[in-house]
Amino acid sequence: MSERTPIVAGNWKMNTTQAEGRAWVEAFVKELPEGQPGVEIAVCPPFTGLATVAEALGDYPAVVMSQTIHDEPKGAHTGEVSAAMVRATGARGTILGHSERRAAGETDEMVANRVRAALDAGLFVILCCGESLEQREAGETEAWVSKQVRAGLRAISHEWTDRLALAYEPIWAIGTGKTATPEMAQETCAQVRAAAAGFIDASRVRVLYGGSVNAENAADLMAQPDIDGGLVGGASLDPAGFATIVRAAAP
Ligand code: PEP
Repeated sequence: MSERTPIVAGNWKMNTTQAEGRAWVEAFVKELPEGQPGVEIAVCPPFTGLATVAEALGDYPAVVMSQTIHDEPKGAHTGEVSAAMVRATGARGTILGHSERRAAGETDEMVANRVRAALDAGLFVILCCGESLEQREAGETEAWVSKQVRAGLRAISHEWTDRLALAYEPIWAIGTGKTATPEMAQETCAQVRAAAAGFIDASRVRVLYGGSVNAENAADLMAQPDIDGGLVGGASLDPAGFATIVRAAAP
C-alpha cells in the first residue's frame, strides 16, 4: 500500500450560496463526524463561500480551498482574487489550471505563475491537467498531460513537493458521466507522476483522479496504485455521496 496520504477534494464550481455552503457542512459532518482517518478532505466553494465554509468547518478535519487565484498580489484586475485574499478567508489551498478555466483562456504560463504565487502565499495547490477526447483518440494523451505538468511546475522545486498535488482530469470525463476506466486512469496518473520528476519528488507527490467520480465508482478508482484520491465535481455537492467517496479513499 502507498505511504502517500490520499486527498479527496470537492470542487463545487459555480454552485452554492453561503447558506447552502453552511447547510452542506452541517450535513457532511453528520455523515462523517470525526472526518476520515488517513484521508485529507478539502472543499472548494466559490470565492463568496470560502470564509463561510471555513468558519462552519471550524476545527473539523477538512480544509477549504479556492477554485483559482490570480498571480498578482493586488492591482487593476477586475473580478480577480489574490492568493493572500484567499488565505485571509481561512482557506488553505487552491485548485489551479482546471480545464474549465483553461477553456476560458488560462494559459500554461498563467497557470505556472499562479502555482508559484499560491505556494509563496502559503496555499496548498491542486494542479490540474487533462486531455480532450480528440487528443486521447489521436494517442496524444501522455505528451499533452506531461507538457501541462512540466509547464505548471516550471518555477517549482523539490522542497514544495508536500505543498501540492496533481490532478489528472480527462476533459471528456468532466461532468459527462463518462469516467475513465480504473486501468485508463491508473495509466495516465502514472504518466502524470513521471512527468513531475525533475521538478518535485514524483514518488511522494499525491496524484488525484477527477472526472465523473461518484459514490459507485470511487472505490475501484482509488484502489489503483498511482491514484492518491480524487477531485470530485458534481458528486461533491451531495454531502452523503461525497462522504461515501471520502470513505472509499481510506487506506
Ligand atoms: C471537476 O470539475 O473537477 C470534475 C471532476 O467534475 P465532475 O466530477 O463533475 O466530472
